[in-house]
Amino acid sequence: MSNYNQYFIKMQDGTIKQINPFTGTEVWTVPGRASKPINNAIPEHAKKMEKTRKKEDFCNFCEAKYLNTPPEKERLVKIGKKYLPLANLKPLMLEATKPVFRRIPNLFEIVTMEYWKKNFDFKITEETAKAKDDYLSDKRGYDHVMNVVNMKLTLLGQDPAKVDESKKLDYADAFFAGGHELIVAHRHFVKGAEFDTQLCSSGELSPSEHKEYLKFTIRGMLNIYKNNKYVRYVSIFQNWLKPAGASFDHLHKQLVAIDEWGVSIEREMALLRRNPNIYNEMGANLAAYFNLVIAENDHAIAFADIGHRYPTICVFSKSTEIYPYDLKEKELAGFSDIIHAMHAALTSQISANEEWYYTPKDSIDIMPWHILIKLRVNTPAGFEGGTKIYINPSSPYDLRDRIITRLLELRKEKKIAKMSIGGECDAKPNPLRYYRRGTR
Ligand SMILES: [Zn+2]
Repeated sequence: MSNYNQYFIKMQDGTIKQINPFTGTEVWTVPGRASKPINNAIPEHAKKMEKTRKKEDFCNFCEAKYLNTPPEKERLVKIGKKYLPLANLKPLMLEATKPVFRRIPNLFEIVTMEYWKKNFDFKITEETAKAKDDYLSDKRGYDHVMNVVNMKLTLLGQDPAKVDESKKLDYADAFFAGGHELIVAHRHFVKGAEFDTQLCSSGELSPSEHKEYLKFTIRGMLNIYKNNKYVRYVSIFQNWLKPAGASFDHLHKQLVAIDEWGVSIEREMALLRRNPNIYNEMGANLAAYFNLVIAENDHAIAFADIGHRYPTICVFSKSTEIYPYDLKEKELAGFSDIIHAMHAALTSQISANEEWYYTPKDSIDIMPWHILIKLRVNTPAGFEGGTKIYINPSSPYDLRDRIITRLLELRKEKKIAKMSIGGECDAKPNPLRYYRRGTR
């Protein structure tokens, strides 16, 4: 049993010193900096929208601008009560159905096609090559691809007229076989929005739409693994609004294939080897010990996390399954319900990053699937740079209370799924069952 008090120290004057047990990051919250309650009212700076248009055209992810992004890989369509995926649609078919979510390549990849080709001698799979040929054999498809390649070249400061056609077709490999994809929600603003602040965030989806959003993202992850055998991890995240790094205020997640696990996972795996129960001990149990639990259901638990530069909510899946794609439908739904409720509590106005963490497929040490939601409300400054002690404006208690207050309102408004909130939570020791994998 660890001594939790070394990670979370409440000083006489109200200062709270926190050390994140996984990263070692030291964070202080100083008294008198408490933030205001979160509310979902229309802010004063909001501008009235022009009358509703037939198709949204506010950014390149909007319905009217499908051809401004590379060819769609897949879309999810709702037919009756069922959701159906449709893959590799040609331009003419894009208008035939209304997608709930779309999976498209990112125009500028973080890890490029060139990276995989040059470093790994990556070859496009037969299936992908066929999809590319099919798309290009369609006149509209060909023009679409060429336009997007030209647009990309121009943005890179090159003259498209000076690049020959075969080179351009080579560049287009990135659109069909690349490993940086986006899951884009259909709407930019909520239905019937009157003000320009009424953006459609994760929390504005219904709980069941949000589950489909996660499910469709996991489908994209599997597709990336299938198409590139050198991928060791698919990093998944969501940047909501510009302060969180989003280029458009249009809801989307990003999937980035990488040939390593990344520093955070690598470090956690080293700790995990020494203590297989670390996610219970230093995650859920520690949170329960300090009363930081925000919400819980049979399949997930959320708490205000300690030792982060930004106010952070941590949500863990309780499943014995560790890979997102192995969760049973009701386990995924339960996990999604809690994530959705956190976003709904934050409202569409608070900028936030959502980061996924799960066991890399080539690891024998296992971690439970968990998601961090980081509120991008503060900017680390000079003090932080010099001391590596970060000042977080909101204490974990402050964050917990603000979220719980909102969750209780949302429950009354019937906008979130059923769950225990705050004091109603069991918060029993060792709620995460990942270490019992295979025993069920
Ligand atoms: Zn948009």
